[in-house]
Amino acid sequence: MVELGYLLAAVLFIGGLKGLTHPRSAVRGNITGSLGMLVAVVVVLLSQEILNLTLIVVGIALGSVVGAVLALTIKMTAMPQLVGLYNGFGGIASVLVAGAVLYQVLGIGAGSGGGTGAVASAGAGLQMLVATSASGLIGAVTFFGSLIAFGKLQGIVTEKPVRYPGEQVVKVLVAAAALVLAAMVVRTPEQIEYYWALAGIASLLGILLVMPIGGADMPIVIALLNSYSGLAAAATGFVLNNTVLIIAGSLVGASGIILTNIMCKAMNRSLANVLFGGVGAVQESAGTGDDIYEGRVKSTSAEEVAMILKSARSVVIVPGYGMAVARAQTPVRILTEALEGDDISVNFGIHPVAGRMPGHMNVLLAEENISYDKLKEMDQINPEFPNTDVAIVLGANDVVNPLARESSGSPISGMPILDVDKARTVVIIKRSLSPGFAGIPNPLFAADNTLMLFGDGKKVMEDLVGAYREA
Ligand code: NDP
Repeated sequence: MVELGYLLAAVLFIGGLKGLTHPRSAVRGNITGSLGMLVAVVVVLLSQEILNLTLIVVGIALGSVVGAVLALTIKMTAMPQLVGLYNGFGGIASVLVAGAVLYQVLGIGAGSGGGTGAVASAGAGLQMLVATSASGLIGAVTFFGSLIAFGKLQGIVTEKPVRYPGEQVVKVLVAAAALVLAAMVVRTPEQIEYYWALAGIASLLGILLVMPIGGADMPIVIALLNSYSGLAAAATGFVLNNTVLIIAGSLVGASGIILTNIMCKAMNRSLANVLFGGVGAVQESAGTGDDIYEGRVKSTSAEEVAMILKSARSVVIVPGYGMAVARAQTPVRILTEALEGDDISVNFGIHPVAGRMPGHMNVLLAEENISYDKLKEMDQINPEFPNTDVAIVLGANDVVNPLARESSGSPISGMPILDVDKARTVVIIKRSLSPGFAGIPNPLFAADNTLMLFGDGKKVMEDLVGAYREA
């Protein structure tokens, strides 16, 4: 019955993931996955000899309250940090559970049911010990790596890559020390201090791996750490001999690595580069904003843009992080409806890393029920720009920065971008000439066919809707 329950949970997890592959079925997918988790938790509670049910219930209640409050209050723009923290909690849970099982099997500590000496070693088979080592190693790397990633995105830890002489050597030495300790845990599990030393050194490794990575590449790191948290959970599944944990962990591990790969392609980083922690560390040679903008930036008004839109046949809106911050999606939908009412075609160009999390723009536009057919991915929309009358760039910056096409060594060099500069007119809505996430100037602001419409995204879009209606 227990295995059947786990099988049902696994099927629900896979069904949930399948649902998440399309916005239309995403809500159903989410509910299906949650149901799978509920089944898994209930089966575990019913099947295991629980030592203290009261403590478990209190834990579940506390966790539910914290989870619900976080989910309800978190700003959409801070979602990557939250995901980062969740990954980290998964990692530390693996470290603690695997460690606790080791104590139990070895019969160390009050109330533990295991034996000692030879009996203990017999209880701790080779598979279990390898899995325990893996849980401690990967889980601790994930926890501390995630804390640093959280700190970087939250502005607590510097977003800049922290580099120092001999950095790669230090990382290789620490990784080697972690592997030696992992082997010691398998060889002499009775010496439990090896396990905690392993967790300690792996924590240091997690910090060392993430510190040299720049803020602009943090999304890849979060996806990778997500994958690590899955691997740690799967390893803990082997420690506990728990099928559903092995399956769920493997699913997270695999989907995390697939997402990492997609993000790498979108940001033109190789996976090896991410694994060795070298991403984002390229030298900036993009020049300063002053040299690039000097006397070339043309500022415009909502009225002027409304006139240009009146005579347009095709418009592409490219949203970015600024749309999310300003919460400008409602006037975007209203303007879209007004333009379409005048037979002007409107599409949206969605960059895979626009905003601060994968799918960020899709979620915001879906809130307004903007048809999914209008949301075009980069490869679909780029060939359309030369035939586009007006490209409206709303709070996007890095994802439309032509510097990415040059091998200048800038942080976004080589990243595929949305070719908005090929449209007849480009209208850029943002508050100032400040750089985006990657911290570099954008020559698009000074291009001949670009007009800057300065102001808060929501306010400007509302003004534009008003001006368009009056034009
Ligand atoms: P950017 O961060 O490049 O630029 C956003 C722009 O929005 C800023 O230049 C800012 O200019 C403007 N802005 C901010 N607030 C407002 C407002 N209230 N109204 C109008 N404009 C505003 O965003 P992009 O979406 O173009 O690029 C995403 C970047 O984030 C990439 O570098 C990506 O690597 C990175 N990233 C992506 C993640 C993901 O998974 N999607 C996760 C983490 C990072 P101003 O201050 O002048 O208004």
